[in-house]
Amino acid sequence: MKLYEGKAKILETTDNKDVLIQLFKDDLTAFNAEKKDNREGKGALNNQTSSILFEYLQKEGIKTHFIKVIDNTKMMVQKVSIFKIEVVLRNVAAGSIVKRIGIQNGTTINPAILEFYYKDDALGDPLINQDHIRFLNLAKSEELEEISVIALKVNDLLKSFFIKRDLILVDLKLEFGRNTRGEILLADEISADTCRLWDAKTRESLDKDIFREDKGDVLTGYREVLKRLKTKR
Ligand code: ADP
Ligand code: UDP
Repeated sequence: MKLYEGKAKILETTDNKDVLIQLFKDDLTAFNAEKKDNREGKGALNNQTSSILFEYLQKEGIKTHFIKVIDNTKMMVQKVSIFKIEVVLRNVAAGSIVKRIGIQNGTTINPAILEFYYKDDALGDPLINQDHIRFLNLAKSEELEEISVIALKVNDLLKSFFIKRDLILVDLKLEFGRNTRGEILLADEISADTCRLWDAKTRESLDKDIFREDKGDVLTGYREVLKRLKTKR
């Protein structure tokens, strides 16, 4: 039974109340869904990319919601109660931060910048800080601390994973939730929809910026990312 349909995915219930199926749709949206498209095969690419990255992170000791791949567009996940916070990590300046703090696109950011956004489409996912999170009751301070520590570790692990495949992890967005056992898990997806990935040599975008900025065929970028993840495991 369908539990939820969002912009990019559908969550379905299973016989086990603690387990969901996450189905990746072919819909593409940007700028808070002002720009839309549908590209056949996008969902399958994101499902495969996410599965490889979740498997890698689990192997490295990160607790994630990922259980197993079901088919091309579906994965089995642990059900969590999602924190209404988007955690963004930045290793290179691109996107919103360039305008917000007036730095040049492509500037290296080391150590990474960690940001929180309020997961609320009606408000356009505004940037928030720890005090807003406390005031809005989005997470307790210990939970936010744990989420931040995990997020920085995930960023470090993925940054080195990608660079071995000639990909620069420019930035990424993570979501976290709590399962019924009380554990905080990395949830949602990690794909070219939610990460900026540049070719290490040419610095060309291989992610959703191709769609955002009309820079060519978005699926060519997504396919290239997946190919590099698959050829070296
Ligand atoms: P949106 O809701 O922003 O349109 P999606 O289309 O990606 O986004 O929908 C997926 C929804 O499922 C998101 O709201 C996400 O927070 C939520 N979600 C991701 N993983 C889990 C999980 N394991 N358990 C419950 N909800 C999840
Ligand atoms: N991001 C995302 N979902 C969002 C907002 C951002 O996956 O709702 C990702 C985005 O793809 C990028 C990173 O988070 O990898 C930082 O995005 P930014 O704040 O620059 O926002 P943008 O200008 O891309 O909307």
